[in-house]
Amino acid sequence: MKKAYEHEEIEGKWLEKSDDSIYYFDASSDKPPYIIDTPPPYPTGDFHIGNALNWCYIDFIARYKRMRGYEVMFPQGWDCHGLPTEVKVEEIHGTSRHKISTQEFRELCRQLTRGNIEQMKGMMRRLGMSIDWSKEYVTMDDRYKRYTQLSFLKMYRGGLIYQAEHPVNWCPRCETAIAFAEVEYEDRDAYLNYLLFERAGAEKEAEHVEIEIATTRPELLASCVAVAVHPDDERYKTIVEKKLEVPIFEHNVKVYEDESVDPEFGTGVVMICTFGDRQDVRWWKLHNLPLRASIDERGRMTEVARGYVKLSVEECKQKIIEDLDAKGLLKRREGIKQNVGVCWRCKTPIEIISTKQWFVRVKKEEILNAAREIKWYPEHFRIRLENWVESMDWDWCISRQRIFGVPIPVWYCKQCGTVKIAGEEEIPVDPVMTSPEEPCVNCGGTEFEGEKDVLDTWMDSSLTALWAAGWSFNASSGIEYEPVELRPQGHDIIRTWAFYSILRSIALTKKIPWRTILINGMVLGEDGYKMSKSRSNTVSPDYVIQKHGADVFRQWAAIGGAVGSDVQFQWKDIVAASKFMQKLWNILRFAMIHLSDYEKPFFKKEGFTKGKSNLRVVDKWLLSKLNRLILSVTDSMENFKFDEAMKDIRAFAWNVLADDYIELVKSRLYGRSGEEGKESAKYALHEAIKTLSILLAPFVPFYAEEMYSQIAKGEREKSVHKEKWQEVKPDMLDSEAENEGDLIADIVRAVRRYKSERGIPLSAPLGKIEVYVESLDTEDIENATATKVELCKNMSEIKSEGDILDVNGTKVVIIKEVK
Ligand SMILES: [Zn+2]
Ligand SMILES: [Zn+2]
Repeated sequence: MKKAYEHEEIEGKWLEKSDDSIYYFDASSDKPPYIIDTPPPYPTGDFHIGNALNWCYIDFIARYKRMRGYEVMFPQGWDCHGLPTEVKVEEIHGTSRHKISTQEFRELCRQLTRGNIEQMKGMMRRLGMSIDWSKEYVTMDDRYKRYTQLSFLKMYRGGLIYQAEHPVNWCPRCETAIAFAEVEYEDRDAYLNYLLFERAGAEKEAEHVEIEIATTRPELLASCVAVAVHPDDERYKTIVEKKLEVPIFEHNVKVYEDESVDPEFGTGVVMICTFGDRQDVRWWKLHNLPLRASIDERGRMTEVARGYVKLSVEECKQKIIEDLDAKGLLKRREGIKQNVGVCWRCKTPIEIISTKQWFVRVKKEEILNAAREIKWYPEHFRIRLENWVESMDWDWCISRQRIFGVPIPVWYCKQCGTVKIAGEEEIPVDPVMTSPEEPCVNCGGTEFEGEKDVLDTWMDSSLTALWAAGWSFNASSGIEYEPVELRPQGHDIIRTWAFYSILRSIALTKKIPWRTILINGMVLGEDGYKMSKSRSNTVSPDYVIQKHGADVFRQWAAIGGAVGSDVQFQWKDIVAASKFMQKLWNILRFAMIHLSDYEKPFFKKEGFTKGKSNLRVVDKWLLSKLNRLILSVTDSMENFKFDEAMKDIRAFAWNVLADDYIELVKSRLYGRSGEEGKESAKYALHEAIKTLSILLAPFVPFYAEEMYSQIAKGEREKSVHKEKWQEVKPDMLDSEAENEGDLIADIVRAVRRYKSERGIPLSAPLGKIEVYVESLDTEDIENATATKVELCKNMSEIKSEGDILDVNGTKVVIIKEVK
């Protein structure tokens, strides 16, 4: 073994020797299954540090559970569809979806995606992920597309998917409907405009009542369908139920009372428009108001806006303000900060417009009940899901007016418009490219128009658990869905991936998708802020691996923070992890000098007194601490406390094994106190090294494999990753030995300090050491201090003259020189 630990060499060696098949899931195995519903990342080509953290957690669990005797499935999928790839393709090829055919455009998207997948796969392998590559799936492939379309058919037939004209969130730039989860909120500067409304009709002349209404969106005046005030607002009692005339457009609207009006905002009177925001949609439904749509799908004003038709929203806003001002209908303006809903992708302010779309029914109670049935780590993230569910105003809009997505398997009869859903044998299908074989059930027509819209990409990825479990949607098979064991994911996609997956599993199988959900945090930069290119605080896992190796990166992932909390990336943690690898390497090198010929425990060998009682106290002390380590690490792993597990392993290896134990038993290992003392130490050291290689295997798979290959003589063809997890040996837990061993280690440390403070070489003998204690195994103290030790049982009086040390309450007298 080389003196320095060289990660390129060791990791390179084990990467080359790695055998994918040892991680293949065997469905026919007798072992209990442990299926992980791994996230299928969006193939951007960049496996960033946040992904890497997430995957490290998954791999820790997969490797641990395998060692615990589970048949683990760690599949890897790729969630391919969606807008970012379309945008990238347009950028790379200098084209647009309008310029080339849909088929060509999709092919370019597929090419780009395939290349990106290969890049990300390379990174996953380099990080030592124990992925079952035989279970890889790609959502843009026909097999998965069929699965998504099949789920659509099932839910449509179950009445859970429907088509309707309904207000949806709409991005006028991307020209597509988007779901609530795709709306982000940003603070922007805006003006609050105070506009003058008057009483309508005859009262206008009779009473001359002027009402001021404050709005940030005067361009929606044409869409104003009502006005509302708070029922307790005394200022407006006289106008409730009366009609007002909308300035410029001069149509009349009724004044409603509504509890949700905030009397403190503006003048306390609000315009209800179709649609300014979600509250407008609620009022529109509640009061059964008419629809006056003044903004179209490209963000232009419609005929409803009369003189402003074809203007953009911004242009219309300016023009209307000028016109109102000219007519004396704009009383004043004040600047405010406004929380604006924008498109997640392009940051354009969204509009709410009413269009014909496909929707999935959201049954809130069912989802909330399911969320309570699932075990959440950490528990508090369940609240985030609950709040989200409660806040949804309408069903999940699943149709997208885009190209790179799974086509909605539907045709419309050209003659009568009746919807025709594809049959199971016809899918996967692109309805734009083919026609159904059967005529229209309503009119017998044979000409159809295929649905051009595609499905929201979450319609694909919300099925991953069912896909991994091999669920066939075949209710008649009589096989019930068994929830998979684990869903690991980031907290940023609770409102999307977790929510949609629960919804779909309940809808399709009536069961929760998984028993446990494990939420990971985000990685923050060294400056404590979210990593972003603009802050230049990003770190790529690739860079860390080149410098320090994958095992060091993985150690950082484990120890960086508790699961669920955001983890700050810090180079000092990487350096610490790297130092630990070297320290452990030194231990291993030293151990192998003595253990290269190690065969079997001495108490089983001929020529030695049989039985463990022959172990020396210090060896029993080490083994007891080792078994306590197994207990605590196992407990931590069961509760996903990787940071605790890794800290405990480090503390044991560094403090107990390296600093104390090896110093105490060096002499015995060199045979200076006989064969039995030597064999006892070899046994304990061997147990410790082998156990460490096993406990470390989930965290540092390359390094652990190297350790194991050194220590597990006779098993060298075997991989540590096929080993069983280390069981606790209860008879090795020995508090007496631990107390005695602690005292021995403390005394030796105290004597070493004593020597170094006085400039005495550590190897130099002293005159004598008196220890005032009933009984103690002095052999290793004598070896480690090169000094004779005498036990003094009469603890009440100090026998000799010397320097008195107090070692945790035990008196130790050092006599420098014996006369
Ligand atoms: Zn957009
Ligand atoms: Zn028809």
